[in-house]
Amino acid sequence: MRSACISVKLGIRERLSPSCGSNMLSCWLSRLCRGFSTPTGRITHLSRGSLSRTLVLSSQRRIPEFSSFVARTNTCGELRSSHLGQEVTLCGWIQYRRQNIFLVLRDFHGLVQVVIPQEESAAAVRKILCEAPVESVVRVSGTVISRPPGQENPKMPTGEIEIKVKTAELLNSCKKLPFEVKDFVKKTEALRLQYRYLDLRSFQMQYNLRLRSQMVMKMREYLCNLHGFVDIETPTLFKRTPGGAKEFVIPSREPGKFYCLPQSPQQFKQLLMVGGLDRYFQVARCYRDEGSRPDRQPEFTQIDIEMSFVDQTGIQRLIEGLLQYSWPSDKDPVVVPFPSLTFAEALASYGTDKPDTRFGMKIIDISDVLRNTEVGFLQDALSKPQGTVKAICISEGTYLKRKDLESIRKFAADHFNQEVLPVFPKASRNWNSPVAQSILEEQRSGLIRLMEIREDDVVLLTAGEHKKACSVLGKLRLECADLLEARGLVLRDPTLFSFLWVVDFPLFLPKEENPGELESAHHPFTAPHPSDIQLLYTEPEKVRSQHYDLVLNGSEIGGGSIRIHDAELQRYILATLLKEDVKLLSHLLQALDFGAPPHGGIALGLDRLICLVTGAPSIRDVIAFPKSFKGHDLMSNAPDSLPPEELKPYHIQVSWPANSEAEKSSLNQPYCPES
Ligand code: ASP
Repeated sequence: MRSACISVKLGIRERLSPSCGSNMLSCWLSRLCRGFSTPTGRITHLSRGSLSRTLVLSSQRRIPEFSSFVARTNTCGELRSSHLGQEVTLCGWIQYRRQNIFLVLRDFHGLVQVVIPQEESAAAVRKILCEAPVESVVRVSGTVISRPPGQENPKMPTGEIEIKVKTAELLNSCKKLPFEVKDFVKKTEALRLQYRYLDLRSFQMQYNLRLRSQMVMKMREYLCNLHGFVDIETPTLFKRTPGGAKEFVIPSREPGKFYCLPQSPQQFKQLLMVGGLDRYFQVARCYRDEGSRPDRQPEFTQIDIEMSFVDQTGIQRLIEGLLQYSWPSDKDPVVVPFPSLTFAEALASYGTDKPDTRFGMKIIDISDVLRNTEVGFLQDALSKPQGTVKAICISEGTYLKRKDLESIRKFAADHFNQEVLPVFPKASRNWNSPVAQSILEEQRSGLIRLMEIREDDVVLLTAGEHKKACSVLGKLRLECADLLEARGLVLRDPTLFSFLWVVDFPLFLPKEENPGELESAHHPFTAPHPSDIQLLYTEPEKVRSQHYDLVLNGSEIGGGSIRIHDAELQRYILATLLKEDVKLLSHLLQALDFGAPPHGGIALGLDRLICLVTGAPSIRDVIAFPKSFKGHDLMSNAPDSLPPEELKPYHIQVSWPANSEAEKSSLNQPYCPES
């Protein structure tokens, strides 16, 4: 009997191992747990005497007790040879069943193999385990036994053992699923979002959310326990504030009066400094009604921080320490201090205020080399007072196909109305020969020297006013990196985390919709650079600010500033330069007048940070219940319509746009999700 079983088992094991996700499993939770298991160095040296010993024990990071208070003795994923002979009770979901002989049980911790008893006396147990559909929840009790020799599965952390079941209980049966939960089965994102609670069962989502939780925990530890920050909640029902992102409006029962959801706790955190709280932080939910934008969510989370009596360097060192302390232990450690570029340098070298510094291809001004050029559009640009010629050198750019270069030129023409010229100063291939021949030999050697061009490099040239030429090349730099990576080159090492501070932003930018007016580059509470204060009254557009952004691998993951703590200066900036209604901010202006300390702060975008750390393709993959691209909750159908009688207490009437019959009638329709 046993030998027959074994031969079946072998076949099953062979089929099970590649697909059960055990490879991923073998590392994910243990990677997370490693973070828990080391005592913090800071605490260990206290371990003298019994009181300090208690302190040490309670402060050490330990492996959490996953099975306290619940109806199991162990988790599926934790069992090893060291548990052999133990009687265990496990609860989990049925991941697989093979030929009614084995069942693989899954919980958040991992997978374990359960042997379905074949004896007559165990008919009831067999019936439960053989009939329950996949993804049903069961509780099994039995003994941990070794797998027969040669049948261990080294790819499964629990692969040396299996469970010999004595009793089984079906806790809840699973109906037909909209998709298979297993990670390797591909699903559309709309379906995943519609059945998010099922999607969350995947190991990938479990990993992302648990890593997020662990990093936040360490951040709290660092801020509160090591640096004396106070975790304070601020209101989410607030009022409209000037000069920032668009806010969501919440009706109130008072006619014509509305709350707004705060785009950030900015005013409150400054008021907390006026209130003498000294060091504030919050894992803060923020809301911005900015419409659909890739990698943005209408509600998102910030690690929001404010400190009194601090300068820019103080904030930067705090954040570097915070990231270093909370960084997952399975990644390369964070090296501090982070490099820093001014806004002007970032724009000149990378064409953006959030440069991806994992690779080179910096923008170089080649105006002087091409001063006497005969190429028409370059000549044109250089004849204008602000005209420049700029270039990037794409190393190994000859890997790009002709059609890639064509698409790059088209992109520049379509999006920036800008001409871009590829040249191959060293390569024998010369696809753009007519123009290339217009580049004189001394210009060619000048370029090679200035840009350190090698054999397989391609140079992209463009011309025009500094900012525009840099912006185009900044975009093309990223575009080329994507194209080269699609051709198999690795430009951006996926294990590399390249942090960068960008500082000395302008205090104001011309308004997009009306360039004659100014708007804040960060927000209106940002202090001007001390050396530029006088310019506020003469040439405000030239004033630099004490605003700093933190960039990681080309994404902005944080931003903050030293604040204005002088009410007069704040009033002048709001009323005179930004033309805002100061009445809306009278509470803040008044507070600044009552002995506000100098203060500054920063907010880190938690979703984006975790997305980069986990390598997730979208921020939606690190949020438990995200909104779709259109801002909808596909699971519950929010936002939803309300019947007119429910709007009455808020003194609101919907003014339906023309052709909205369908929307109107959807008031009484069952929900049908976006696809
Ligand atoms: N409140 C700002 C933001 O959300 C961050 C800050 O200045 O601290 O961007």
